[in-house]
Amino acid sequence: MDNILKIVKYPDKILREPSQVVSRITEKEIKLFQDMLLTMRHFSGIGLAAPQVGINQRLIVVEVDGQILKLANPEVIKAQGKEQMEEGCLSAPGILVNIERPYEIIVRALNEENKIVEISAKGLLARAILHEIDHLNGKTIIDYMTLLKKLRFNLTNKLKRRE
Ligand code: ZN
Repeated sequence: MDNILKIVKYPDKILREPSQVVSRITEKEIKLFQDMLLTMRHFSGIGLAAPQVGINQRLIVVEVDGQILKLANPEVIKAQGKEQMEEGCLSAPGILVNIERPYEIIVRALNEENKIVEISAKGLLARAILHEIDHLNGKTIIDYMTLLKKLRFNLTNKLKRRE
């Protein structure tokens, strides 16, 4: 059975923890990839990392322009160019942060068939992969916010809690 998983939200500390390397893809990881993909689509995201569903393992799913990637231990081996764009995150609803990232990347990872693959990506696909790799390192879009924006966000949160 397929499941829509619960998404962990900022400031949950699970999102701060670096995730663990996956030694092998088994039925369990394949099922998790599928559930993550469904969950991502359900919430209209273009990427999701395992820590966002409470599992600190280096697993990500990304779907951009019909291209679906399910990757374990993704690692950037080459990056070039740069581009700024506003990014959102399913773990930080309602927040958009302008982030500069490489425009083009090559990523090495383990795929669903336990094969090491190298993937070239650019533009939005590259950005989505880099965003998810950040999650595996305990980093979120909040870390890219300016101090002013952070203060405003924290203030907004406090006001909300008071209501
Ligand atoms: Zn995110």
